[in-house]
Amino acid sequence: MDYYAGKVPATMEELIKLLGAAFDIPGVVVDTHVKRLSLKLGLTENQNPDKIEKDIEKLLPEDRWRRFSDILIYHGRAVCKARKPDHARCPVFKLCPSTDIS
Ligand code: SF4
Repeated sequence: MDYYAGKVPATMEELIKLLGAAFDIPGVVVDTHVKRLSLKLGLTENQNPDKIEKDIEKLLPEDRWRRFSDILIYHGRAVCKARKPDHARCPVFKLCPSTDIS
């Protein structure tokens, strides 16, 4: 309900995310926000979503995978927007290696 306003998602990526949450299947969901922020934050050097998923899974315990994806998605929508990242409002500004190129 929070993410899709009660509507069935239109893309395969979003459907997989919804099903994973519904059935409590652990996993990092790599959508466009997670991919972009993982690269910005230096969590991966890969462009391939499957490789990004594996890179992030190595960094976190399994019970944090889904929540971490949700946090990155929220952060990408609310603060670190693709066209204009809001560095001034960013809680990870001091840790981010991409502040000079965004
Ligand atoms: S510091 Fe800027 S580029 Fe880095 S995550 Fe925050 S908003 Fe994005």
